Amino acid sequence: MDGNRKIIEKGSIEIEDKKIKRVGKFRGDKNPEKVIDASGKIVMPGLICSHTHSYGMLLRATPLKIGPPTDLMQILQRVWWPIDEAMVQSDAYASALIACLEFIKTGTTCFADTYSGSNSIGRSLDRISSAIGESGLRAFIGFEATERHTRAEGARGMQENVRFLKRTLKKKRSRVRGLVSIHASFTVSDELLRHARRVSRRFNAPITIHASEGQVDPQHNLQKYGKRAVERLHDVGILSSNTVLAHCVHVNEDELSIMKKTEAKVAHNPMSNMLNGVGVAPVPKMLEKEISVGLGNDGYIFDGFENLRSAYLIHKANARDPRVITPYQALEMATINGAKLYGLEDKLGSIETGKLADLIIINPDSLPTPLRRKNVVEHIVNSVRGCDVETVIVDGRLLMREKRVITLDEEEVVKMSKKSAEKIWKKLGAIKR
Ligand SMILES: [Zn+2]
Repeated sequence: MDGNRKIIEKGSIEIEDKKIKRVGKFRGDKNPEKVIDASGKIVMPGLICSHTHSYGMLLRATPLKIGPPTDLMQILQRVWWPIDEAMVQSDAYASALIACLEFIKTGTTCFADTYSGSNSIGRSLDRISSAIGESGLRAFIGFEATERHTRAEGARGMQENVRFLKRTLKKKRSRVRGLVSIHASFTVSDELLRHARRVSRRFNAPITIHASEGQVDPQHNLQKYGKRAVERLHDVGILSSNTVLAHCVHVNEDELSIMKKTEAKVAHNPMSNMLNGVGVAPVPKMLEKEISVGLGNDGYIFDGFENLRSAYLIHKANARDPRVITPYQALEMATINGAKLYGLEDKLGSIETGKLADLIIINPDSLPTPLRRKNVVEHIVNSVRGCDVETVIVDGRLLMREKRVITLDEEEVVKMSKKSAEKIWKKLGAIKR
């Protein structure tokens, strides 16, 4: 995934400390500390998940006593919000651990995660950061400030972001960095948006917000402010090359032009969009305009290859045209573009000399047709599954080897996650709706 999209056959990669020292055809160091024989396998940059909610892992198959939601607002009110409000800090920790486990097992090495939950704000990011630290993965994390109930709630959320950003300032080389996270244009005031802008500038931290995921975004903003969501975000001044807008399903041409002009970036979440029935983001148009689009899961399916495949397919179906997206464009979203979204394209997203050693090794044994240099990207997009990933390296450190996760105790993590989910389900069972 370097600038020339070069694919090297029978090559070698030399890693020293946390970085890639050499890539190409060469005989390596005479006395290496460790040699990983990847002959016949695919070595590629670790996937980057540009937008997730770890605690989404605890929502899976939750037996809620609710009528089927009819739109995004009802999905939030009936499913996501009751669950995040039932969470305590140990749940934040447990959900981050299980998300990390799933990411490692399926080849994602870096992710951007925003946590929510008005009853577990204070120091929640420390718990999530500890879990990520244990896993060995790389991440951006933030607390999703929202004024869904009160203004004070939004201020408390932002305070948690500031607190965590201050903490990470002291740890310059940490794998876990802070984000300025705000929920969505329909749950926050202009004041909170301006507050977020100030914090983002003060710490030079990326700012992220859900934008135009459902119809509720344009409706709310047109009604209350007389403009569409992206227009309002622009007028408030939060759009810049340091802004990541999640979703952007309901954006019109003018909004796309604003995004292009301000260099705001997009985290595309095709599987979540399908699940919630919110529509299809105009990604081919974004790519045409050279707006940077990364790939996220929005807390739904954590296997990055499933998301990659969905991004590859959904736009073809939507446009009734198989040409609207190429395998390379889909793969770029999941790797180098993910890095671009968070200003890390010089450090991550491709295997190049000097970049951080975040890479995965895929075992192609289960592929139904031969693997060649010329069809490797087609195989990655069409055939490879998360369970084909056998080795994961982040910062030059092995997190999984031959499908055995080294950094986390799989059994223990799954046990903790189930226990947290049980507790949350019990609490929700008590809620009458
Ligand atoms: Zn989200």
